[in-house]
Amino acid sequence: MTHLTRRSLLLAGTSIPLALEATGLQGVGQPAEPECFELLTGRRLAATIESGRLALLPCGSLEYHGPHNPLGTDSLIISGIAERVAIRTNAVLLPVVNFTHCPAHTASFQGTLSVRPEVMTLYFEEILRSLTGAGFRRILVLNGHDGNIGPARGAISRVTAEVPAASILLVSWWETLPSDEMVKLDLFHQANGGHGHGGPLETSAVAAFHPNLVELDRARDLSPPPDFSAGFPYYLEKSAAEGWPGYSGLISEASAEKGKRIVAMSEDRIVELVQKWLEAPTLPGSW
Ligand SMILES: [Zn+2]
Repeated sequence: MTHLTRRSLLLAGTSIPLALEATGLQGVGQPAEPECFELLTGRRLAATIESGRLALLPCGSLEYHGPHNPLGTDSLIISGIAERVAIRTNAVLLPVVNFTHCPAHTASFQGTLSVRPEVMTLYFEEILRSLTGAGFRRILVLNGHDGNIGPARGAISRVTAEVPAASILLVSWWETLPSDEMVKLDLFHQANGGHGHGGPLETSAVAAFHPNLVELDRARDLSPPPDFSAGFPYYLEKSAAEGWPGYSGLISEASAEKGKRIVAMSEDRIVELVQKWLEAPTLPGSW
């Protein structure tokens, strides 16, 4: 394990939020690897809880993402982002939740493994309750898959209602990169900035971490999805999408280099949000 100084990290272009240092969550001697929950001894866990550290739970999926992307695309992306966010926020990194709920329009594709949403709500609830039972009070749920949002929110509501002083933050990585900003970056030439299931943005992100797992030449470009943004969030789910091949967009525009840029932006934004969250413990939740 290499220990890097703050200066060497800055020289390497890695941003370190100053306020996080001030909170004692991060600073000189930042490790090159995250501390993984499953590697902690019982003694070290007790010391970790004592110091009030954050727990980071990454959530992904096993889901068809087109002929060109690995089935674990969401899990691979969120694991990559979570490792770096854990290092930068001094969080204890939990194993990724892989078996999750997938919506009806991807469930019929070969390779999608889906768990019913009500089961996932209870499952997330048990994980979060166990973490609070171990003594963690601040938990960051980093999400890589749309189907996790509903169940995770239900579970978070249950656990925060029953555990005093619990504070649980849920962030979906792709939501840190709004479409209009992605359009301005000019990386992908479609109205939604490259977003979409198995699309160029997501394909680039998985290639950033695992370039050898992506087979760009296995997917043809699809006509860019129509601009379906309404300028405000909404949720639409259908039982099937006739003729849809299980991915979207101009796949030939994807690349590992673009992916590295995208995930670095997302990581910076997540770290900044975590910093604000930890600095304002008396603030209510989303209000
Ligand atoms: Zn995905």
